[in-house]
Amino acid sequence: MIHIGLDFDDTLMDTRKSIVSVLNKQLKRNIMFDEVTIYEISELYGQSFEEFQEFFTINQDELHHMEPYPFLQETLSRFVDKIKFTIMTGRPIEWMESAKKWIKENDIIVESSLCASQFENGKLECAKLNGVSLFIEDHPAHALTLADGGINVLLIDKPYNQECQHDRITRVRDWKEIGDILDAFVS
Ligand SMILES: [Mg+2]
Repeated sequence: MIHIGLDFDDTLMDTRKSIVSVLNKQLKRNIMFDEVTIYEISELYGQSFEEFQEFFTINQDELHHMEPYPFLQETLSRFVDKIKFTIMTGRPIEWMESAKKWIKENDIIVESSLCASQFENGKLECAKLNGVSLFIEDHPAHALTLADGGINVLLIDKPYNQECQHDRITRVRDWKEIGDILDAFVS
């Protein structure tokens, strides 16, 4: 069976949108999410990375009040007999439980959820050890590392990954287009 690795944040749910919304509320700011093109959102609010990590840890419940991306559940369930999906997230281990809770609450059908940040060489090692042949990702650096390591990537089109190009990387719009590509992949 084909095994596909899935990123979690901004691949399954719009985590960045949620972060901007909660930070705006707490810090009484009015940053427009659509204008955010840099990857590190915390910089917009003058937060250090440590402050951001603390913010995320404390606010995990509220940050996960977000719907899955359109067509995600339908796409995963459509291939349930043909493709094995495993979440391989770069999140720190402290944020795994909130991800798993969201997956359960939203009926996301996956084999399991792995914390790829626990592997010495991150997502690439996690993907290779688990026999993943294709990875779905939004983060440009992770996509390039995976592609350089010989794994094909479907890169979800985002304002912050426009420069990301590689022979093994295919840019996709959304989960509807991913479904169309997977149809061709399994036939
Ligand atoms: Mg991501």
